[in-house]
Amino acid sequence: MTVVVLDGKATAIQRELDLGARVANFKRVTGGRIPILATILVGDDPASATYVKMKANACARVGMDSLRIELPASTTTEDLLDQIHSLNGNPDVHGILLQHPVPKHVDERLCFDAIARNKDVDGVTCLGFGRMTMGECAYSSATPGGIMQLLSAYGIELRGKHAVVVGRSPILGKPMAMMLLNADCTVTICHSHTANLPDLVRQADVVVGAVGKPAFIKAKWIKDGAVVVDAGYHPDGVGDIELKPLASRVAAYTPVPGGVGPMTISTLIANCVSSAEATLG
Ligand code: NAP
Repeated sequence: MTVVVLDGKATAIQRELDLGARVANFKRVTGGRIPILATILVGDDPASATYVKMKANACARVGMDSLRIELPASTTTEDLLDQIHSLNGNPDVHGILLQHPVPKHVDERLCFDAIARNKDVDGVTCLGFGRMTMGECAYSSATPGGIMQLLSAYGIELRGKHAVVVGRSPILGKPMAMMLLNADCTVTICHSHTANLPDLVRQADVVVGAVGKPAFIKAKWIKDGAVVVDAGYHPDGVGDIELKPLASRVAAYTPVPGGVGPMTISTLIANCVSSAEATLG
């Protein structure tokens, strides 16, 4: 069986070439303005700081600017809302990324939902989620949006397939399930209270691992010829799915690293470029 490696790194690099050209065009037609992504990091979680840095680096690679806002862990919900409202009103800012998670005392949902719809380039607002679910125009949640782009780039047929999404978080599992549903999959959503998880995963033509536990989904649960998407990332290149034994018997799989991660970042950047272009009228 030919096994397709869904190479997110290569696909994202290719996509960045196109994004670079769009940024250059935006600059030309606006007489020198540059799309700007504002990133907000609250607290000192090293992993979050790394993710924000990677996003700022990606902005630079396509010729965009990033406005980095770093707030102390003691930031209150009100302080954060003030920041977001100020960025909403700043015409130079085209997209706002609030890095998840924020410290526990902050009302993350309230802050996400304060992001203006036209700047919600990470697809985190309830309104954006609802619009996307209903098939209306909205910026896609970055990770599931990136996964859909990757599947499309490799011509993976989704219509009529049974997709099993393990995980139902607001930023990943839930929007992933809705995007697969909108692509005409039959979707099963699994979570920590799901009974008979291995049996459900065995039925999947497409499996998405979004659990946050290293190698939690076992290779033996996954049927031959399935399409395997692993959104997880843990130290030593381990995802949420036990990938190694699958590499010779599935139709396609995302490697870890180099699968979903780069597509998440390029989707965020693509959404921000689209937001900037939308200001041109
Ligand atoms: P999360 O918010 O912790 O959600 C985890 C989900 O897994 C929850 O819905 C939870 O169910 C479910 N779950 C936990 N234990 C389970 C079990 N025993 N059986 C079935 N389901 C179970 O995590 P997340 O933010 O969605 O992230 C998931 C993974 O994706 C992580 O590995 C994260 O690092 C990765 N990620 C990667 C990217 C990227 O760009 N590559 C971006 C975001 C996240 P309940 O709802 O019932 O608690």
